[in-house]
Amino acid sequence: MTEFRTRAVRAGINCDPGHGAVVAPIQVSSAYRRADPAQPGAFDYARTGQPGRAELAAALAALEGASGAVVASSGMAAIDLVLNLLPNGARILCAHDCYGGTRRLMDARSQQRGFDLVYVDCTDDAALEAALWDGADLVFFETPSNPRLRLTDLQTACVRAKAAGALSVVDNTVLSPALQRPIALGADLVVSSLTKMINGHSDMVGGVVCARNPEHVERLSWWANAAGAVGGAFDAFLAMRGLRTLPVRAKAQSESALEVARKLQAHPKVVRVDYPGLEDHPGHAIAKAQQDGFGPLMSLELTGGEAAARQFVQSLELFILAQSLGGVESLCAIPATMTHAAMTPEARQEAGVPDGLVRLSVGLEAPNDLWADLEQGLATL
Ligand SMILES: *Cc1c(COP(=O)(O)O)cnc(C)c1O
Repeated sequence: MTEFRTRAVRAGINCDPGHGAVVAPIQVSSAYRRADPAQPGAFDYARTGQPGRAELAAALAALEGASGAVVASSGMAAIDLVLNLLPNGARILCAHDCYGGTRRLMDARSQQRGFDLVYVDCTDDAALEAALWDGADLVFFETPSNPRLRLTDLQTACVRAKAAGALSVVDNTVLSPALQRPIALGADLVVSSLTKMINGHSDMVGGVVCARNPEHVERLSWWANAAGAVGGAFDAFLAMRGLRTLPVRAKAQSESALEVARKLQAHPKVVRVDYPGLEDHPGHAIAKAQQDGFGPLMSLELTGGEAAARQFVQSLELFILAQSLGGVESLCAIPATMTHAAMTPEARQEAGVPDGLVRLSVGLEAPNDLWADLEQGLATL
């Protein structure tokens, strides 16, 4: 089999039988002709299936090492699809420091459907083991977690979940399959926001669920068609175009992020930098073992606390104050009032997200220019 980078570039390329197009054409049709009223062809109606979306799903499944994938209209729609696999009243263990939007959805669906939802520090093996004593139907991991970049040893955690009879689901948004492939580490399902690293150009919203088991792919596809939260043809095209450069972007962004993290850590106005690539990060050894790179995301705290954090992000010029991550352009955010504002202050405290935490997503600009910007921002404090 060819290498990951080759497969990312070549997925769906040179497959057009009609005109020999090197890049697959965007099929905008919502309906597909039948030869037989009782028998659909390969495609029938674009909510059910659409060529560009199918190609993207096949490419992502192959890169994640899954048996299949379902593309959804957003990362949240992908996570919601997974919850459709559970009966009402199911027991869910969820990483306590997951993405704020995930927590909001988990809370709302649990209230509605009577899930027994427990937030667990999944990075603490003993805490996960204790939570699994009562059994579980599904464990939702996020590693590295957003925004504190805490690491879960997936191999150990997925074995524990499986022994308790639970499905292991991993949110792989922060790294993408270029840097981490959870199915090879024991996960049953992988969810990703296409909006972030995979598309990488901050110009579409989408999500995907990749599944180890073909039966899960079938059930997820059934729900995607029934509920209809599927992505459009143009979004699939954009995500596919982004995917071709994903391995190269992920590598370059990881290298710049490490350089920036090292310099920030040495700066007197910085209290602490959370970046798994730093040797003193508590998850460094796990990251080295289960990842192919450390990723674009880091967080930090400043000596001046919350006020300094606000002043800092507003003084940056290259780092744009905006909530997303993984794009070619560098972004900064204050999670407490932005990406994680949907969480209660208590939940944020439990997840270790202080009000003065600054999150940086390092893009593809020259690392020297990024550092110059951060340095001038720190000089204003
Ligand atoms: C952004 C994000 C999501 C949600 O994805 P959308 O495409 O915005 O719906 C889920 N998990 C993580 C870790 C994210 O960063």
